[in-house]
Amino acid sequence: MKITNIRFAKLTVPLVTPFKTALRCVDNIDDLVVIIETDTGEIGYGAAPATPLITGDTHSSVMAAIDSVIKPLLIGLDLTNINELTNIVQSALIKNTSAKAAVEIALYDLWGKLYNTPLYKLLGGGNNQLKTDITISIDNIDKMISDSQKALAQGFDRLKIKVGNDIYQDIERVRNIYQVVKGKALIRLDVNQGWTAKQTVFAIQKLDAAGVELELIEQPVKVDDLAGMRYVTERVLTPIMADESAFGPKEVIELITTGTADIINIKLMKTGGLSNAIKIADICQTYHIDCMMGCMLEGSIGVAAAAHLAAAKSNVITKIDLDGPALGQYDPVHGGVNFNFAHISLGDGPGLGIKKIDDLVEL
Ligand code: MG
Repeated sequence: MKITNIRFAKLTVPLVTPFKTALRCVDNIDDLVVIIETDTGEIGYGAAPATPLITGDTHSSVMAAIDSVIKPLLIGLDLTNINELTNIVQSALIKNTSAKAAVEIALYDLWGKLYNTPLYKLLGGGNNQLKTDITISIDNIDKMISDSQKALAQGFDRLKIKVGNDIYQDIERVRNIYQVVKGKALIRLDVNQGWTAKQTVFAIQKLDAAGVELELIEQPVKVDDLAGMRYVTERVLTPIMADESAFGPKEVIELITTGTADIINIKLMKTGGLSNAIKIADICQTYHIDCMMGCMLEGSIGVAAAAHLAAAKSNVITKIDLDGPALGQYDPVHGGVNFNFAHISLGDGPGLGIKKIDDLVEL
């Protein structure tokens, strides 16, 4: 099975509720779809959302990186040598992690099709059922409480609460939500870089004093404030998870060995795809550090790949935050991974298992 062409399409899905974090507010899931064609007629699907504030990548930059740099290196190569292909992708250019991720996802999809096996089985096997948390967007307290109650009614037992725009209001938000969900769901607090190190310690002390127990706090401080994150991690018992500060394997080794973070959030758009994500999971397992498998606000092509990896590495990827597709009003991707509120089911189709995608707009 040889690569003959790489082309692009767009896939847009309206959200049920606008997605609000300390950094942005959006109404749609907007994916750039990367389609790799082969001489056997098999097609591989990958995708990337635009995340200029996190990875620096936009749809245009992803297309340009693939079209002008990555694609010419891959045309004519055989899918049998998946490690050689991912090495080529990773060393084709620096950064551009979303472009690399979208291409790698499509390559691994084809690799699964080559052997007629679901990707998670080729990555080592595992349970094909996962349970994800759901994101509660930052808003006024009443809205966040009603969104949390709705999530409980839908069967979620992990809530990822977005805070990070005003420390005192954030503490009030969490105290109030905790009273509603206590005993029914655990709270993961995603600050999205919204606090300083001292504010984080202050907030955790206040929440501790109020009897609020959190499963973890995610990326409280600015992406480059590693000293600040270490300051927090050394002073509190609540586990601190690195998200925006953790991109590739080298950063993860640094975060772990310096005691900067307790947990690592792996996202394919940060790692540049599955090959580095596999390395990070293995590094974390070696150091007895838990991982979360996360995603951007993205649809079920990229998130399917993340789910396959999470299933195969479930001994170290113990936390699942793959709610992107479930936040959409519908899923235009058929036959792949099924996202049904908290429950994620990996199908038995080859690769990512995708049979058909509605509403693809060819570019
Ligand atoms: Mg995060």
